[in-house]
Amino acid sequence: MMSPLHGQMMEVPLLASSLLSHASRHFGDTEIVSRRIEGDIHRTTWRDCERRAKQLAQALTALGVAQGERVGTLAWNGYRHLECYYGVSGMGAVCHTINPRLFPDQVAFIIDHADDAYVCFDMTFAPLVEIIAPQCPKVKGWIALGDASCIETHLSDLSVPVMSYETLIGAHDGDYDWPMLDERQASFLCYTSGTTGNPKGALYSHRSTVLHAYGAALPDAMGASASDSILPVVPMFHVNAWGIPHAAPLVGAKLVLPGKDLDGQSLYELMEAEGVTYSAGVPTVWMGLLAYLKQHGLRFSTLTRTVIGGSACPPAMLRIFEEEYGVQVIHAWGMTEMSPLGTLSRLSYRQKQRPPEEQRHLLEKQGRALFGVDMKVVGDDGRELPWDGKSFGDLYVRGPWVIDRYFRRDDSPLVDGWFPTGDVATIDPDGFMQITDRSKDVIKSGGEWISSIDLENIAVSHPQVAEAACIACAHPKWTERPLIVAVLKPGATVTREELLAHFDGKVAKWWIPDDVVFAEELPHTATGKLQKVRLRDQYRDHVLPTVAENPI
Ligand code: AMP
Repeated sequence: MMSPLHGQMMEVPLLASSLLSHASRHFGDTEIVSRRIEGDIHRTTWRDCERRAKQLAQALTALGVAQGERVGTLAWNGYRHLECYYGVSGMGAVCHTINPRLFPDQVAFIIDHADDAYVCFDMTFAPLVEIIAPQCPKVKGWIALGDASCIETHLSDLSVPVMSYETLIGAHDGDYDWPMLDERQASFLCYTSGTTGNPKGALYSHRSTVLHAYGAALPDAMGASASDSILPVVPMFHVNAWGIPHAAPLVGAKLVLPGKDLDGQSLYELMEAEGVTYSAGVPTVWMGLLAYLKQHGLRFSTLTRTVIGGSACPPAMLRIFEEEYGVQVIHAWGMTEMSPLGTLSRLSYRQKQRPPEEQRHLLEKQGRALFGVDMKVVGDDGRELPWDGKSFGDLYVRGPWVIDRYFRRDDSPLVDGWFPTGDVATIDPDGFMQITDRSKDVIKSGGEWISSIDLENIAVSHPQVAEAACIACAHPKWTERPLIVAVLKPGATVTREELLAHFDGKVAKWWIPDDVVFAEELPHTATGKLQKVRLRDQYRDHVLPTVAENPI
């Protein structure tokens, strides 16, 4: 048998540290601007970022942190957090970003489950550290992201002994060579916030991190460039801020890190001051920013595009950004288990020749798979459904930046090598995927799917409705029927009948919800996602007043 002919190329592992080294060497003067929790604006460069990340690597080595050990972070988007990203992963340890918005018990569970050796935290999270430290006996040290005097001023009441980050790294000179690791070694760890059960960890590798960064930077993904000033509103503790802290050094972009203040005014002022061209965040954040702009009659002077994801981008938001502010919206879908990018809504040359309404319709969808991700929708019988834009099914994905299993769990989540996303979707003949529901929340009436997201979108498009959830309600004939739980805007007086009439003509008759109940508020998880499971429990015994006309 003939032996395979190997390519004769250098064997250079794909390492997270190489992203930073590239930026430091080729874009050394490019800035990283942070709004600090101290309240001021801090400016550094990729060159200095690498030097300080190396000082951190030296400091952690001196503390005895071994390769593969986890170092946690509880921090906002800022330059010290960025140094942790690269200092920790670069030395061969695992940078474990923790979501501080979770309930303290969950944060403690995550730190304990991950076996974090050290945890670096922004001083705003000192009260959280105070609560969780007794539940995390395996943590060898808590490192406050500040200097000794700051700690003296702000943390003097803390009963937990803490080290100063600045003192720690200040003892080292940064004269350090990043180790040549195996690219399959773990680099970052992020737990999913999940609406039920304990959070589960997605453990990324250096290889997946770098491949994802390449993918994220592509023109039909974020289109990141050295000429960009990028402001990730999406937190660095949530799936590595969608890969922006990796894609920015890959292309040598300026990075603007907003810290803890994510209200419309704070974001707008930072964007204008730092010439931000590109941003990324969840719809809630943009609602705040758009409201601020409208209230004060302002416009963006440099922002050209923004990625909106994490939840479905409301079509009205897309329209406002594009038509009123001339900002291109890139609707994206992904998940923690996917590093996170899966699909993005970008038009091809041929699609751009179509009528504007057709183009808009495509852009409202979650989009086309990025190279590196393959996807399929599967029906109840386990068979792949056609890409006809109509057939709903469970969405599965696979690829080099999709997890194979969860951290420290033996059971494999995969089905025939594909990861089940828990989302329900269609794929159209253009290859554009559209999320129609989560499989947990889906409403099945007479054996046919009803999209609760579509119904929620219609409910919130009513001018009197502030927020709405659509849940499945038990029905003697159809098994399940949709129920709308609506929160009205202050002072609004819409009736059940008026709200139901709002659905007329917008969906098939049998999709029209059977009932509406009004609530003061809806339950959300710590990350702001609707807790449908709780809501379903709450309205488990709700009796529907009508028997819906279901033609099936
Ligand atoms: P997470 O892992 O917390 O980022 O959550 C991932 C989940 O958020 C996905 O499985 C989807 O259910 C939801 N999601 C993310 N992006 C979108 C989007 N653009 N439209 C609808 N749902 C989304």
